[in-house]
This record gives sequence, C-alpha cells and structure tokens, in this order.
Amino acid sequence: MATIIYGSELSKEIREEMRLKLQFFRNNGMRMPCLAVVLVGDNPASISYVKGKQKACASIGMDSLEVVMDASVKQDTLNEKLKELSMNPHVDGILLQLPLPNGLSEDAAIANIIPEKDVDGLTPSNFGRLFLGQPCFTPCTPSGIMELLKRMNCDPNGKHAVVVGRSKLVGTPVARLLQNANATVTICHSHTKNLRDMTKQADILIAAVGKANLFDETYIKKDAYVIDVGVNRLENGNLCGDVDFERVKDVCKAITPVPKGVGPMTITMLLKNTIMAYERGVNYGE
Ligand code: NAP
Repeated sequence: MATIIYGSELSKEIREEMRLKLQFFRNNGMRMPCLAVVLVGDNPASISYVKGKQKACASIGMDSLEVVMDASVKQDTLNEKLKELSMNPHVDGILLQLPLPNGLSEDAAIANIIPEKDVDGLTPSNFGRLFLGQPCFTPCTPSGIMELLKRMNCDPNGKHAVVVGRSKLVGTPVARLLQNANATVTICHSHTKNLRDMTKQADILIAAVGKANLFDETYIKKDAYVIDVGVNRLENGNLCGDVDFERVKDVCKAITPVPKGVGPMTITMLLKNTIMAYERGVNYGE
C-alpha cells in the first residue's frame, strides 16, 4: 500500500514556521505582512475560499484586507481598485479571487497588480519569468505540488512526469516547474488520444482535470508518485479527486488524498509568497 501524504499535515508544519517568523517580526516592533483578497460577486465557492484564506492569515498572525465588489462592477473600477492596492504601502500581497463573474476579463484585471505583489504568480511578468527560469512568484497550487513531491522523497530529476490538464493556474505552470527540476514532462489535455497509454508511463502523475475518479488503477504505473489536484463534489455532497483513491493506493508508491491533500498546500504557499513579498518590499519611487 502507498504512503499517503497529507498536505494538511505538511501545511501545519510550514505554517508553524511562518507563525514563529511573524512573532519575531512583531517582537521587534515591525508591522505585520498583509494580504489583500479581492472578491467580486457572490459565488458561494469563492466566498468560502476567501474566508479560508483570511482564516489562514489570522492563524499565523498575518494581517488581511478583504475587498468585496458587486458582480455588476465595471472593469475600469476593478482595475482601479487593483492599482490602488498595488500602491498601498500597507499591502504586501494581492490576490484576485477567480473566476470573475461573466463580463469581466481576468487578464485585464490581473495586469493591474504590480509583479512585486502578485503572490498568485499570474501576472504576465511573473508567468514569463517562470518560463525563463528567473526568480518570480510561482502560482500557489503548483508550488504546493512541488513541496508535496519533496515530502514524498520524490526527486523529479530524470523521471517521466505526466501532467493531465494545461490550465494557466495549475497544469501549465506545474509542468514547467517539473521541467525546471529536470523531469521529462508530457502534458495531456482534453484532445489527448489514448490518455491511459500516456499516464501508464508516468513515474509522477499530476491529475488536474476536474473529473471525479477519472483515473483508476489501470491508468497508473506501478510505484508511481500520484498527486491528485482535482476537487469534485459528488451527489452525496462529499468531495473527491480526479484519482480513484481506493483503487490506486495499492498500485502507486505515494499518493495525496482529497480532501486534505493539495488544497491546504495551496493556501500555505499563498501565505509563504506574501511573506516573501513583504521581505522583498516595493520601491514606490518618489
Ligand atoms: P480547468 O481550467 O478546467 O482545466 C482542466 C484541464 O483538464 C484542461 O486543460 C482540460 O483540457 C483538461 N481536461 C478536461 N477533460 C479532460 C479529459 N477527459 N482528459 C484529459 N484532460 C482533460 O481546471 P483547473 O483550474 O486546472 O483545475 C483542475 C482541477 O483542480 C479542478 O477540479 C479544480 O477544482 C482543482 N483545483 C484544485 C486546487 C487546489 O488547491 N486543491 C487549485 C486549483 C484547482 P483542455 O485544455 O483541452 O480544455
């Protein structure tokens, strides 16, 4: 049976280190790092994600600022708010909760976040730097995945990693991080033929599709490292991943569960990036 790697436990350890660091800042009279979270509209999932992020900030003593805007907000008004937060010296990181309501452009909005505060790593500057192998803020879920692989004692160097999903939030950046770590990377998506033949070759499988239990044991190479990013709600209200955990756990070497796997690591990496932004600072000019 595989080793089950809980992101919730790894998160606890990393958050404790961050809490101690912030306590040190506070004891030395420094201001606390602050994450601004911008929520547009009233999508219940987004509201719950935003609450989770604020709770996580509070748990380590980090300040947070919530900006709520109506779903009918004009693109210009949203852009202006993001510009204003970018110039606010009390704000270190800015997270725009996605997806935005219909009619608003995510790309047009994100372009107003200065790269120094782009703790989600989604501005063209940070995304480009990731692909150029330059220092940058990396998107939080992919960073969390790399930490989970480390916890599995899995060095991607020389391994074949298969990433299923090519979104800008998960699949594309994690494929690049794996390549930067010297894995040989195959990216699969909805047009991929013979998906099973691809994933069967994976020493490392990253499942980031959003289809409940898509991957059973017939998709998995023996002793693979399996990271299940998918979050799917079943009819009975329970959450499950893209990987059929019960059927895969006896084939692979290590696996992350859903829930308590990748999800908590995503928020932890957001906190980590915000502290990094605080420490690097911003030169606002005169
Ligand atoms: P997304 O933007 O919808 O992308 C899904 C990807 O899966 C696309 O690239 C799509 O291909 C591909 N795909 C769809 N059906 C497929 C199939 N049958 N075979 C192979 N590939 C297929 O989703 P996302 O934002 O990347 O998120 C993916 C999943 O991860 C979702 O369940 C989401 O809730 C979850 N997630 C979890 C966290 C976390 O922190 N735990 C964070 C982010 C996302 P095309 O490009 O061809 O359409």
